Amino acid sequence: MPVPSVITIDGPAGAGKSTLGELLARRLGYLFFDTGVMYRALAWAVLRSAIDPEDGEAVAALAHNLDIQVLPPGDATDGRPYTVLVDGVDVTWELRHPNVERIVSITARHPAARDIMRAQQRAIGCRGRVVMVGRDIGSVVMPDAPLKIYLDASLDERARRRTHEIQRRGGSADLQHVLNDIIRRDSLDRHVSAPAADACVIFSDGLSPEQVVALVIDRIDDGVGDSQDTSAYERAKNPDSART
Ligand code: C5P
Repeated sequence: MPVPSVITIDGPAGAGKSTLGELLARRLGYLFFDTGVMYRALAWAVLRSAIDPEDGEAVAALAHNLDIQVLPPGDATDGRPYTVLVDGVDVTWELRHPNVERIVSITARHPAARDIMRAQQRAIGCRGRVVMVGRDIGSVVMPDAPLKIYLDASLDERARRRTHEIQRRGGSADLQHVLNDIIRRDSLDRHVSAPAADACVIFSDGLSPEQVVALVIDRIDDGVGDSQDTSAYERAKNPDSART
């Protein structure tokens, strides 16, 4: 059974996109590419340069000259899914800092800055064998992707998951505070958050990450795909056989 060479996963904050993307990429042997990291890297650079995140021209000029690299975690033993370098500086964990979280959706609103980010994302997507996660990947960045997932969950569920995620990483998080931040980001991100018309929408309340992966694999089973790479599909269907 063919496996789509590009799988896009979009949806709001806390819906479980990264968890699904990582699991799926691992099972298919694909690259996992979380595009939110690029906007966070831009926000980090905005803070570093002390420019106004509302200043679209300044943010775009910064984006134009910024060297963002998303690399495999290498030998790092701190549980990172990837390493992010901005102009050569390792900012992987700083991208989760509340200061970055506070302005990321503001810096991500400027069309000229988005164009720069999207061109870089598209270049990576076009190489294929990639699971791309974001807000506008299926609708704008890779509109021809053969399999588009839109992952959603209720507000309460998203806040709960995000709180657990922060706590699991050793941070402290208050459920109500996280909920308020998600509501704020939902509203700022609304301009890019619509699912692609041909996206498969999954509402994940009450589903474990593995159950969501199984739904996507079923979807592939139903024949969505454009590539001839059947080995990746077999690995995804039988993860145990891939290890032998
Ligand atoms: O997914 P994550 O929470 O890391 O994304 C951080 C922010 O980056 C989002 O709230 C959104 O403002 C922006 N973003 C975006 N388009 C994407 C990915 C993320 O505008 N494709």
